[in-house]
Amino acid sequence: MSIPGVDISCDRCDYRGATGVVFGIFKYRTQRGNISLPRDLGWCSSCDSLAPIEETALGTRRKSLEKDLESINNKIEKEKRDLLEKISFFKRIFSSPQLCSETLTELQKQAEWFLSELSSPVLLVDYLCNSREPRCLTCGSDEVYKVPQMPDGLNDFYDDYRVKIPIGMKHPGCGGQLLASTSEVRLNRRFRDRVYDLSGKSIT
Ligand SMILES: [Zn+2]
Ligand SMILES: [Zn+2]
Repeated sequence: MSIPGVDISCDRCDYRGATGVVFGIFKYRTQRGNISLPRDLGWCSSCDSLAPIEETALGTRRKSLEKDLESINNKIEKEKRDLLEKISFFKRIFSSPQLCSETLTELQKQAEWFLSELSSPVLLVDYLCNSREPRCLTCGSDEVYKVPQMPDGLNDFYDDYRVKIPIGMKHPGCGGQLLASTSEVRLNRRFRDRVYDLSGKSIT
């Protein structure tokens, strides 16, 4: 996976940060399996740095869950196609074969759970209905706040120069302007899953 990021620097000190901290695979673990963890770029006072923080907008969380459900439904369709391929041509024509496998049953159970949580949440009631303070996904502190959107007008990755544009936020504790510029390097790495409980505390 190769993603261009944005570097953040300060016009008064040598602080260096990058938006790449939010890249990767973040998940919440629930009693019924993992769900995606929507996140934002934030500033953590405890890390004293840019950090990935939990997204608290309920609409975004709901959409994230709907996307998870969509990907399970796609897996269900694929599993059905695979099973159908294993059934002989004549059986397919002359009867309507029952498709079943452990994988399919498991996926269908997962999809049902997602659907029921989306319509009347039980396990995910806090996640979908009550926003608490977001946590830093690096250290777990709740002394965090959201960083402004990256400014327009940043260079394309292939440009041979880089403009630095203020992001509209002062470097906490320093007072210098934080500046954004397109990163010179792409992040070429495989991401490992980072798993958290529903209170935002890191498990792995
Ligand atoms: Zn600074
Ligand atoms: Zn932190």
